[in-house]
Amino acid sequence: MTYEQFIENIEDFKANYSEDITPTSYFGFPIAPLLEAENKLTNEHEKSVAYFSMEYGLAPSIYNSFSPGKSISDKNKFFSHEVFSNYWLSDYVFKVKVDKMLDIPIYSGGLGVLAGDTVKSIADLGISVVALGILWNKGYFKQNFWYKHGQVPEELYWDPHTYPGLVPLKYRVVMPTKAGDLVLRLWKYYVYSYDKKHVCPLVLLDSNLPENSEHFRRLTDQLYRSDDVSWRIFQRSILGIGGMKALEVLKGHIDCYHLNEGHAAFALVEKYVGLKYKSRMDVEKKKFVYTCHTPVAAGHDRFEIHDIENLFPDDYVEAAKKFGKETDASDDINLTHICLDNCRHTNAVAQKHGEIMRLQFPDFAKRIDAITNGVHIHTWVSENFALLFDKYSKTFGDWRRNPQNLEHVTQIASDENFRRDIFSAHQANKRTFLNIIKPWKLEEDILTVSWARRITGYKRPSLLFHRIEEVLDLAYRIGPLQIILAGKSHPNDNIGAAHIQDILNHIDRLNEHHKVIKVLILENYDTYFGKLLTTSADVWLNNPLPPFEASGTSGMKAILNGVLQLSTLDGWVVEAEKDNIGWIFGYQHHGPEIGSESQLRLDEDSAALCATLKEVATMYYHMNKRGTVDIKSPWIDKMVNCVRRAAFFNTQRMVEEYRQKMWT
Ligand SMILES: *Cc1c(COP(=O)(O)O)cnc(C)c1O
Repeated sequence: MTYEQFIENIEDFKANYSEDITPTSYFGFPIAPLLEAENKLTNEHEKSVAYFSMEYGLAPSIYNSFSPGKSISDKNKFFSHEVFSNYWLSDYVFKVKVDKMLDIPIYSGGLGVLAGDTVKSIADLGISVVALGILWNKGYFKQNFWYKHGQVPEELYWDPHTYPGLVPLKYRVVMPTKAGDLVLRLWKYYVYSYDKKHVCPLVLLDSNLPENSEHFRRLTDQLYRSDDVSWRIFQRSILGIGGMKALEVLKGHIDCYHLNEGHAAFALVEKYVGLKYKSRMDVEKKKFVYTCHTPVAAGHDRFEIHDIENLFPDDYVEAAKKFGKETDASDDINLTHICLDNCRHTNAVAQKHGEIMRLQFPDFAKRIDAITNGVHIHTWVSENFALLFDKYSKTFGDWRRNPQNLEHVTQIASDENFRRDIFSAHQANKRTFLNIIKPWKLEEDILTVSWARRITGYKRPSLLFHRIEEVLDLAYRIGPLQIILAGKSHPNDNIGAAHIQDILNHIDRLNEHHKVIKVLILENYDTYFGKLLTTSADVWLNNPLPPFEASGTSGMKAILNGVLQLSTLDGWVVEAEKDNIGWIFGYQHHGPEIGSESQLRLDEDSAALCATLKEVATMYYHMNKRGTVDIKSPWIDKMVNCVRRAAFFNTQRMVEEYRQKMWT
């Protein structure tokens, strides 16, 4: 593709984009690698991959931000977060001021952040991949905490037309439905490598067009809208069917289709419907691979056949039946089954998840592999830790290109200068965050425990509050505590909403104890806060109910920044059990029974959490006596071990595994 062809395809180029896109520059980044990436995708000699995901958490507010000529429109910025704490005085008067670019709001949580990190590592490695997703016109949702009402979700407004790096294309994709054609506009966003030498294009589908009915226009409003079953079917078919049609319109030459979650399963249906010779499907199927990201039931979609019949033409219904019925007698189309039964290769996202998946799907056990998740080093490393790794460059070498070099930290594990430096780098990160929440008067030398992620049942967001009297007692006897929380709960998740309510009530009751325990919950958890919290905590708390956390990734961001783990044994943590990166507590899953995700084991595990937290606080206050630090403390050994394991838990290693095991 030439520059001229590129701009020719952009809608309203002259009016909206001619300042930011020039023959040399794309929103301040070099344009040549972008054009090269586009060329590779249409080249039949290049083995290209199409990567499908419902959500992408790209975090441009913290990494590789484009620099448009004009200042960023207020519609695409985020100015403040409210805080709910047991230090009321500040809550009433202050907000956390941020004045930052809004994250491109097309993700809800870990699944999206992983897809974003994956695409960034794909670019870093210069692999020819096109990513496909949906342009959510109203994002996921905006979260408000209301005293005595818990979480009150609000629609989020943003402006894709002025979002830096995002451009609308003239192309249209048409999906046939029983209610007439559903027309989709294609957008492009470009994800650059850390050295800006390679690019991974992201295609986003959008139904918000005047030629669609009002109902159709709103299908791509909100991610995971689940008011009724037709929304869910439409959103998934836009990704699968619309995504495949988009590849055709863009003349992509694709060797491998990578489906993330059953969400993208309709891609297989579209492939079959579009084939002139149906017998070719056996060959075509070999190009599909599938990654399953959760053992939780809600993550696996089943639709009744008649609901699909209501929405789609006969040939689509026939194909869905052919590939998605678990048994001949079934009345359901199971999207997970479509993927498991038809893709060449399937993987789980951590070794433990692999084991669980084989128990859940015994018929497919032999085909299920496991590739452990990671995080994108360049996005999640704090500046202070990057400076630390650079300072010890004799040990770490070019760690940006080779994150596995972080393993070499063992060579300097007992070097006193390094131990002092790693602790100082951590304290500097902690100060950065405390400065942002200054009105709440948190202190640098007080043990800070953070928990932030999607608020949903199996993650047990309120475990720490289950025996809050004991935690309080610990704070009075051993040393004060600072606890930071954040997270959104899906608007239709009643259990998640109940957890938020429970947490707010507990916080409220702790008001008179704020001198020994401060608890803050921050509104609108996003990747910006994700980075702030995972870099600044002394201890990252992770307490999902085993074995329902497929992987988890926020702890990986934390270890990269020397932050210790206080975790149940689940997901990725199982692979770091023996590495002394913190503390493991609570119920452990073993054996062939999976158990129930609604039996939360709060009594036993909160007791285990309190007992372990006592050990944590004791070690912390031995190590840090009001700023006088014992550099020989086993606490610092744990920090070093965290960095050592970050050599493995990153998306560069992960994408290399995908390339070897799944894509070729
Ligand atoms: C990393 C991240 C997640 C994933 O957290 P888990 O611990 O894997 O649940 C979710 N949301 C945001 C904003 C993140 O940055």
